[in-house]
Amino acid sequence: MTSPMFEKVTFIGLGLIGSSMARAMKRGNLAAHIVGSARKEETRSKSLELGFIDSAEADPAKAVENADLVVLCAPLGANAKIAEAMAPGLKKGAIVTDVGSSKMKVIEDVEPHLPEGVHLVPGHPIAGTENSGPEAGFAELFDGRYCLITPADSTDRTAFRKVVSLWKEIGAIVDVMSPKHHDRVLAITSHLPHLIAYTIVGTAADLEGHLEKEDADIEEMVETNEVVRFSGSGFRDFTRIAGSDPVMWRDVFLANKDAVLEMLGRFTEDLVGLQRAIRWNDAEKLEEWFTRTRTIRREVVEQPARSPYVDWQGGHRVGPGSED
Ligand code: NAP
Repeated sequence: MTSPMFEKVTFIGLGLIGSSMARAMKRGNLAAHIVGSARKEETRSKSLELGFIDSAEADPAKAVENADLVVLCAPLGANAKIAEAMAPGLKKGAIVTDVGSSKMKVIEDVEPHLPEGVHLVPGHPIAGTENSGPEAGFAELFDGRYCLITPADSTDRTAFRKVVSLWKEIGAIVDVMSPKHHDRVLAITSHLPHLIAYTIVGTAADLEGHLEKEDADIEEMVETNEVVRFSGSGFRDFTRIAGSDPVMWRDVFLANKDAVLEMLGRFTEDLVGLQRAIRWNDAEKLEEWFTRTRTIRREVVEQPARSPYVDWQGGHRVGPGSED
């Protein structure tokens, strides 16, 4: 049997992503020892019981002692404090990586705390579910999915290559792009869809209350929950991601504020264009728009081997291709 890629790996944050990565590393025998750290005792003991970590430690500085690799898997808003707390325990030569959905903010929050000789290699797996916590994870989560690595010019090349190899070993396809580019791409492909899903559920619920008041004389309408009762598959499919963790998404929008606001501006312009087309009975515009976008949507779905954004503004591929 070949020796593991890392002697000691520490995961800080043992939820969906951290526990899935730890499970995938166990599957591939990639670490001789995995330490897990989380705030709650319950999370740490559950993770030990599930067997994807070998030991648990509450104190981040103790958790990272002698670790060759540290993986930050807590919500984005926790990174600065975690980095500050763990810094005294980091050994020279250690690699720190992360899985956060926004990259500029991770670099801003983590890098200033790292001691000299510790290498930060930011990453973001484009894989997930709407479930959270240590029990939600599974080893296959990253199989055939993209992981974006977003090094800065100053990133240590050896550490970078090791993180790329790790993601390939746990089943992912690696792409490399700048942190800024990553944040703009993800703002449109992931963050905006989540914002819209959260919005439409809220709007539908508010509207429901409003309609109930308006139609108060119609008894059967008053006593029903129409969003739940009449939600067709379109509403359900479209809003699945509104079931995602509120803390994680609060942090994503605050961390990637500029890019999200920029994309939201572009999106709003297009939406207003369609609003006008409906108001002025512009059937041609509506049909032309829906036909064009249906073709694009089909291409995205029919080509699982390609990420919809890999080549957008020059993303650079380093692994064999797949999807998200
Ligand atoms: P999750 O299932 O909610 O798990 C979060 C974990 O972080 C929990 O173990 C929690 O521990 C721990 N944690 C929270 N605050 C902490 C703190 N201050 N110190 C130490 N541990 C803390 O979250 P997740 O879905 O795995 O997301 C984690 C990261 O992955 C986020 O940065 C997110 O942007 C990124 N990401 C998520 C997805 C996705 O689809 N979910 C996809 C790609 C990337 P306690 O139980 O002790 O609170």
